[in-house]
Amino acid sequence: MTEEDGKTPMEKIVSLSRRRGFIFPSSEIYGGLSSCWDYGPLGVEMKRNVKQAWWHAIVQSRDDVVGLDTSILMHPKVWEASGHLAGFSDPLVECLKCHLRYRADQLESQICPECNQALTAPRQFNLMFKTFMGPVEEEAAIVHLRPETAQGIFVNFENVLTTTRKKLPFGIAQQGKSFRNEITTGNFIFRSREFEQMELEFFVRPGTDMEWFDYWTQERLSWFIRYGIKPEHLRLRAHEQAALAHYARCCSDIEYLFPMGWSELEGIANRGDFDLKQHAIFSGKSLSYYDEDNKEAIVPCIIEPSSGVDRAVLAFLCDGYAEEPDKDDIRTVLHLHPAIAPIKVAVLPLSKKEPLAELAKGIYSRIRARWNATYDDAQSIGRRYRRQDEIGTPLCVTADFQSLEDQQVTVRDRDTMAQTRVPIAELLDILAEKLG
Ligand code: ATP
Repeated sequence: MTEEDGKTPMEKIVSLSRRRGFIFPSSEIYGGLSSCWDYGPLGVEMKRNVKQAWWHAIVQSRDDVVGLDTSILMHPKVWEASGHLAGFSDPLVECLKCHLRYRADQLESQICPECNQALTAPRQFNLMFKTFMGPVEEEAAIVHLRPETAQGIFVNFENVLTTTRKKLPFGIAQQGKSFRNEITTGNFIFRSREFEQMELEFFVRPGTDMEWFDYWTQERLSWFIRYGIKPEHLRLRAHEQAALAHYARCCSDIEYLFPMGWSELEGIANRGDFDLKQHAIFSGKSLSYYDEDNKEAIVPCIIEPSSGVDRAVLAFLCDGYAEEPDKDDIRTVLHLHPAIAPIKVAVLPLSKKEPLAELAKGIYSRIRARWNATYDDAQSIGRRYRRQDEIGTPLCVTADFQSLEDQQVTVRDRDTMAQTRVPIAELLDILAEKLG
């Protein structure tokens, strides 16, 4: 019986993340800070890979999308115009006995799940974090930490349009931190108060918005599948008209079958012309697009695929995680797509001694010039393979005493565990082909 036996699937992910340096509780030496998390040495690589895969698909590989990186603190009027000050709230209820707080819309009944006592009537609780700009803590100095990155894009619509001279349809994308003072958090990095988003605002001609909504929904579904999420673990859930956010004409969630059940991974909304019109009213600036063909100004509609980086990382971890028979034992593997895996190749010499170490280090330095790689010469080769399997390293390169004579090494595949002997002279090409 190992320490891992008897754990729930989510507990296993949390434990692996902690043990191998993917994700740590924030401020852990002080007992942690509720719902805040730190990405460790492997986690930061994986998170960057997720963001890069998104950035590449959404921005770099397309002519019709440009990127942006806007500030977290914005003019207070932004949140008035966007409707967040008035409407970005969840219904909060509190137990009259134990004083635990819940989101009323997430409860099955109107009694406290902890102690079965009555709850207060719901009151709307605004989810935006408040702080003060400058040295005086007064009403006029209040600013908010952004609860979404989208508004930074809308207020820069005119700047981007004039500097890039893009024509409709085109998009502006941004990745960055967002903050929400969630009433209840939990399920590891699924719901936290500080998290990262990847958002695309795609501006289209009114009338073509539903076509683009369908297009982006399919694009985003296929992105998750391309990077390794099993299609049967993804589904689309269309919001009912009555449940739509104040800005949305229609909205679908891409849901993933997380260990706690189907939950939102990404939201895709047709925001109509709400945002540009609101900011035009509040700023007094015209936020429209001049249509050369028809010689008229139009306000574009916006299609928004809005994804959470942390939820994507969690989905990749959950989907990749497996415990598989290996000889007489069980191995833990993360079947991560090579583009998502924190380390692509591990170089493992069979001995720490020269001249084998010199040969292996030479190979390692050539590999790491191209990919994120690691070198491990401690303990048995079987244990070293296990260590790499557990963190999702797709390929291991093993140099043995024979390598000194025949200038060949063994390439071992994480998923099939197949081992192939290849000439060192061809190694980089072979790795490149396998890593895709
Ligand atoms: P939920 O219903 O789960 O609260 P939401 O519908 O409010 O989410 P959106 O406003 O659509 O979420 O935000 C877009 C994306 O940002 C979500 O799909 C999710 O991936 C991510 N996200 C939102 N809130 C959080 C959070 N508290 N922690 C981590 N990621 C989040």
